[in-house]
Amino acid sequence: MNTTGPSIFTKIIDREIPADIVFENERLIAIRDINPQAPLHLLVVPKTPAFANVTELAIGDPGLLAEVVATAHNLATLHASGEYRLVFNSGESAGQTVFHVHAHVLAGNLQDHTLA
Ligand code: 5GP
Repeated sequence: MNTTGPSIFTKIIDREIPADIVFENERLIAIRDINPQAPLHLLVVPKTPAFANVTELAIGDPGLLAEVVATAHNLATLHASGEYRLVFNSGESAGQTVFHVHAHVLAGNLQDHTLA
């Protein structure tokens, strides 16, 4: 649970700050990462701020996690070849900087890239 106020993603969902939105429905939003680490670098973000990381999401709403994965596949198919890397940084020491669960969808030529 995020207790530090609205995350950057909630501000994007609420249109308080701009983003390049590639998909949105009632439960998810997908945006282009502001600092792309691959030719295609999207973030698939559940709209609810209730889950800080993928473990919390898996336990709290596994159906929503499945929707994140399906959306990643669909967007990688639409915007790239359909082959993609799905990354959830979970915890500060693992590189997580925004504690509102999100999936990195990386596609394109990934040989030179290790993690998001
Ligand atoms: P994390 O480090 O938490 O796994 O991923 C957070 C991601 O959010 C980073 O890849 C970072 O580039 C991206 N990010 C941070 N602030 C913004 C923003 O204002 N707009 C967009 N589109 N992406 C952001």
